[in-house]
Amino acid sequence: MLEITIQGRGGQGGVTLAKLIATAYFLRGQFSQAFGVYAAERSGAPVQAYVRIDDQAITNTNQIREPDHLIVLDPTLIAPAIAIGADPGGWLILNTPNDPAHWAETFAGRRVATIDATAIAVRHGLGTRAVPIVNTTMLGAVARVFGLSEPEVEAALADLGFEGPNLDAAREAFRSVATEQLGGSAAAVIPIQPPQKIPSLFDEDLGGPPRIRTGSWATRRPQRRTLTPPCNHSCPAGNDVQGFIDAIAKETIDDALAILLETSPLPGVCGRVCPAPCMQSCNRAGFDEGINVRELERHVADRATWPDVIPPHRLQRIAVVGSGPAGLSATYHLARLGYQVSIFEADDALGGVLRNGIPDYRLPREVLDRELGFILMHGVTAYTDAPIDRRALLELTEHYSAVFVATGLQSSRSMHLGNGGEQPADIIHQGIAFLDGVHRGAVSMKGKRVAVVGGGNTAIDAARSALRLGASDVRILYRRSRAEMPAIADEIDAALEEGVKLDELTLPLKLERVAGGAELHCARVILGEPDESGRRRPVPSPTDRFIVACDEVVLALGQEPDLSILREGAEIHQDGRLLGVASAPVFLGGDFATNSGTVAAAIGSGRRAAVHIHYALDDSGEEKKRSSRRLRLTRANEMPAPQAEEPRVATRDDLRLALFNPAARRRGRAMPPEERRHSFAEVHFGLEDDARSEAQRCFSCGVCNDCERCITCCPEGVLTRETGGYLFNYDYCKGCGICASQCARGVVVMSEL
Ligand code: FAD
Repeated sequence: MLEITIQGRGGQGGVTLAKLIATAYFLRGQFSQAFGVYAAERSGAPVQAYVRIDDQAITNTNQIREPDHLIVLDPTLIAPAIAIGADPGGWLILNTPNDPAHWAETFAGRRVATIDATAIAVRHGLGTRAVPIVNTTMLGAVARVFGLSEPEVEAALADLGFEGPNLDAAREAFRSVATEQLGGSAAAVIPIQPPQKIPSLFDEDLGGPPRIRTGSWATRRPQRRTLTPPCNHSCPAGNDVQGFIDAIAKETIDDALAILLETSPLPGVCGRVCPAPCMQSCNRAGFDEGINVRELERHVADRATWPDVIPPHRLQRIAVVGSGPAGLSATYHLARLGYQVSIFEADDALGGVLRNGIPDYRLPREVLDRELGFILMHGVTAYTDAPIDRRALLELTEHYSAVFVATGLQSSRSMHLGNGGEQPADIIHQGIAFLDGVHRGAVSMKGKRVAVVGGGNTAIDAARSALRLGASDVRILYRRSRAEMPAIADEIDAALEEGVKLDELTLPLKLERVAGGAELHCARVILGEPDESGRRRPVPSPTDRFIVACDEVVLALGQEPDLSILREGAEIHQDGRLLGVASAPVFLGGDFATNSGTVAAAIGSGRRAAVHIHYALDDSGEEKKRSSRRLRLTRANEMPAPQAEEPRVATRDDLRLALFNPAARRRGRAMPPEERRHSFAEVHFGLEDDARSEAQRCFSCGVCNDCERCITCCPEGVLTRETGGYLFNYDYCKGCGICASQCARGVVVMSEL
């Protein structure tokens, strides 16, 4: 019996070569056998295949340890160890550009045949330049060495369906293989080693890298990178959304809260009222549904244990004017940096719009009070009923090291509905004042027909509140269409579910008192070209007029900043800093400075102001570095970032979507609409027990979440988990790319060498 071993790498076609050789002998009328060893033979991993030829039936199906002849398909495998066990009198048929004499020392005393099968295969377009398929080429060389004829080679190839370039390559190899009996003593041959001990499951070496180094064989290597998840990128508060969701998925909810508190002191508030741009930008949105980030944030704020706080350690005192989310955020971050902060609030309670605007059924007072209490615990002093005017502001700059002004939007826009004369003021209410009255229990709408004019959050909140106060009919009049309404879309839906009516493309012109109520004369609106806001300009029709019967009118037309607090001509610097007015720096933020119009944006503005103030007051470079790390926009990944710049935002194309299963978004329960109409109790109940499964839907775009698929799937075992990261052992990595193909998050990627 003749026994042949083929040594190659996955992708080179070694097993097929075994079949071709066996076929050639079979067609001669001999018995033959061919098989490969299948294990981790992915592209690039070492592979063995075996051939047996005999005049009689072959019953031995064992692997061949001591072959008569050895064929080596890959130049990087040619080393003395490859010939272990091979008969010293047999052939070594090598794929190498070198002639047999080159191997005189390595394989002294042996018969060596060499062929540059790689070059021939590439020339004939077999495989790719990176991974040429050399099996059919090698068949030509092997046949010549073993005394088979060219027609026998062609017949074997045809039998297995090979034609064209494979035939040409085999022919070229048949004619150009070089053979030589090398000098020296066969005694130099390496003896076969005694059988190795089978490692036990507890053997320390189990799972270590294979013995064969990669050498220069690999053309690619895996690398890890970190991208910015779109949710983090779009969060105006700068929250590490992916990070806190990952902590929920891993059931470390206190860590989730700690991550949120790095950037925002109001997670329970945002978890209820944020319009959540993160949910719109979520890569999962185009797959099935975006992650329910808002309710996950609420879940963390409501369920986790709030941490202890550190009292201020600096002597510098900072004044914050206004206690809306911007003022509260600046206060919190400055206090965490060790400053002594005093808040000055014109109202009789802290919270800004969170207290006097957003109704209880969306944001219960207990939630606001819990988070306010946490902020105040940081050694903060708060003065209520303390309006600050221009003179008082200058005074503050004399007693404090810096002042932050975040007084929001205090001037309500109005419209004249008097038709040239007096308008019935007693039935017209300003939206913000109306909502403040609702909070204070000072308003009743029992049996009234209420018309709310506007399309923002104030309009929706006023309409839903009026309904809860017993109004018999509530309608919102909006001059554009629903698609252009600036209010949060979910809140518009909720209002309509509860029974609020929406009159789109409606512009009120005149309010007249009539017997038993009032009449609001309106014009139908046609939408024209887009205006400077990008929305289509409303043009009232001169002829299409109609009347809305009502008893009360609420104007919710938006607010503007009250700039009287600033000295005329005050120059505002890029970082929100007011120049040339006072002895201490004055910074501006929140809606007052940005008019961004969301709680999250106000929180982000307050945090950035805290950083600017800290930079202005603290000269120590080291301190700046430390604190900017503390106030960073996103949590740094545990891996050293290879990129010098801010990582780019991860798109769906960066992810392996095939590795995810569709799963519907988990939603918390909500009060039925008919019950809501009579109650200011909170409408939504939160995610309850579904939070973890919702968190586990997160793609974790571009950020490693330690799923360890890369380690599990690496056929070479070259990936290990080190403290704080992952390590590739490139000495043994063959560049097969399986780790990258199994990394669902787009963290592991292949790079060309
Ligand atoms: P504000 O919250 O307005 O706070 C300013 C504070 O400064 C107030 O407490 C005020 O009394 C005080 N102040 C003013 N002048 C002085 C002075 N001279 N001296 C001392 N104190 C002064 N955003 C969302 O993200 N989601 C929502 O669901 C949402 N709903 C809203 C509903 C309503 C009815 C309104 C009006 C707004 C809503 N918004 C919502 C927008 C959001 O509330 C604001 O963008 C945000 O509150 C702005 O925060 P701020 O700190 O800049 O100002």
